[in-house]
Amino acid sequence: MIRVLSEFELISRYFTRPTTHTLLGVGDDGAIVRVSPGMELVASTDMLVAGTHFQPDCDPEALGWKTLAVNISDIAAMGAQPRWALLAAALPEADEGWIAAYARGFFECASAFGVDLIGGDTTRGPMSFCVSIFGEILPGRALLRSGAMPGDEIWISGAPGRAALGLAHLQGKCALDEAAVGACHAALHRPQPRVALGLSLWGLASAAIDVSDGLLADLGHILEGSGVAATLHLDRLPSEAMRACPGDVALAQRCLLSGGDDYELAFSAPADRHHATAELSSALGLNLSCIGSITGKGAGELTLLDAEDRPISLPRRGFDHFA
Ligand code: ADP
Ligand code: MG
Repeated sequence: MIRVLSEFELISRYFTRPTTHTLLGVGDDGAIVRVSPGMELVASTDMLVAGTHFQPDCDPEALGWKTLAVNISDIAAMGAQPRWALLAAALPEADEGWIAAYARGFFECASAFGVDLIGGDTTRGPMSFCVSIFGEILPGRALLRSGAMPGDEIWISGAPGRAALGLAHLQGKCALDEAAVGACHAALHRPQPRVALGLSLWGLASAAIDVSDGLLADLGHILEGSGVAATLHLDRLPSEAMRACPGDVALAQRCLLSGGDDYELAFSAPADRHHATAELSSALGLNLSCIGSITGKGAGELTLLDAEDRPISLPRRGFDHFA
């Protein structure tokens, strides 16, 4: 039997944890934090809606992790240190087991990345979760979408495309190589925000973005934001997605180029910093692939070349809620 909890029991039991760097956390009308001396605040918010971003019958613990992870990813993409989060949750019912598992996943992610949950709102309604997140950064250090320059190289972290393949696999749309199933599902359910990479890109990267809607789509935002054009080389893209789904090359390529939900960082960096960027890869133990370059001024044009340097027509760029 589902034991019914009051809103306040629910908040105090599942969403109140000791904080490590907060003056006043959950429990009053507002939280109080002190920004470290000399630092600026970076703020962002992201919503996860049942049916759109996750299925209502999904694993609540993984969902709790992901709710916070996708928000931390935005702070990482700015090159900032994530610090505080607020959680607004709408739940159709107070199912204690479900909420306990959700909170476990959420706080596991919070601890992993040093984030204090300092407040939120809890209401009954169609299931959705909205996190607001705050990070700190030294003045002038933020990695914007607008800084890419002609001559820069374009890099991507990790192995994009695996989350979309994991989803396609769950939906029965493809078979995956046995060795890759776990990694694809982990990419979908437990994305790893690239905080350490974002913090290390100061002085290297000219622009950065986290890939939530697909590599081409999100890279497109850097190109448009910077007023530049770029060329990508298909054969320089990380090959994990292609290897994960050898039976359907077209689907694997679509996931690699336009699949969302991986939360890798795409960034541009001057070509003369190539070796420093490659060294960062070994220092962080995170694959960084140089996949193309900014070719000149432009309005965001993106050319994709095959192994023989022939242009390939571009697939639909990425996910758009209103397209
Ligand atoms: P108010 O009615 O003044 O908005 P609430 O009753 O909504 O306050 O919330 C009580 C306290 O619990 C507040 O400190 C609020 O920030 C916190 N809170 C509510 N829901 C959550 C949640 N899901 N996670 C974390 N803190 C929450
Ligand atoms: Mg309230």
